[in-house]
Amino acid sequence: MNDIKLALLGSEGAGKSAVLVRFLTKRFIGEYASNTNSLYRKRLSIDGRQLNLEVFDPCSQGTEARCILEEPVDWADGFVVVYNISDRTSFINAENILQQIRETRIENCKGEVEVPVCLVGNKQDLCHARQVCEEEGRSLAQENRCLFQEVSAAESYQEIANLFTQLIRQVMEH
Ligand code: GDP
Repeated sequence: MNDIKLALLGSEGAGKSAVLVRFLTKRFIGEYASNTNSLYRKRLSIDGRQLNLEVFDPCSQGTEARCILEEPVDWADGFVVVYNISDRTSFINAENILQQIRETRIENCKGEVEVPVCLVGNKQDLCHARQVCEEEGRSLAQENRCLFQEVSAAESYQEIANLFTQLIRQVMEH
């Protein structure tokens, strides 16, 4: 597969656009207009394979994920679910999203119920205001058999790049 389609899901303000822009450009864009659905495209080379990456970043997802989930769940080959470690509501929303990804796949009989997903605990630099401990993120990811990493889109690139690379590898192998 040379075309890889990913969708970013998570509460508004969790830092989805910041995480994605950091991965695509190595930069942190502090304020990013995210009131529209955006589709990002980038050509990448991973393990010697040329890939066309498309990432769907839907606009404001509030705390109710259901309405925005149906389209990306059918479209995407993999998901990046982002929460903010200093906002417990965003973690609860991530939990719901992981469940809804599974349910929507089952309802739509895609055959493949297991889909590559990574759970991202963003804003690690705000650990003084932490509301979700790392272990909770790790065990939620284990329950859902998905990748997990805490990151800071504001401060670092490498962990985000590693995580996207692992997810893309899983999609290629899927
Ligand atoms: P989205 O609605 O999930 O796409 O969130 P945004 O990417 O628009 O980010 C929401 C806010 O959080 C913005 O003010 C960002 O500057 C800020 N933000 C994003 N990532 C980080 C981070 O890792 N650390 C800190 N301190 N702020 C962040």
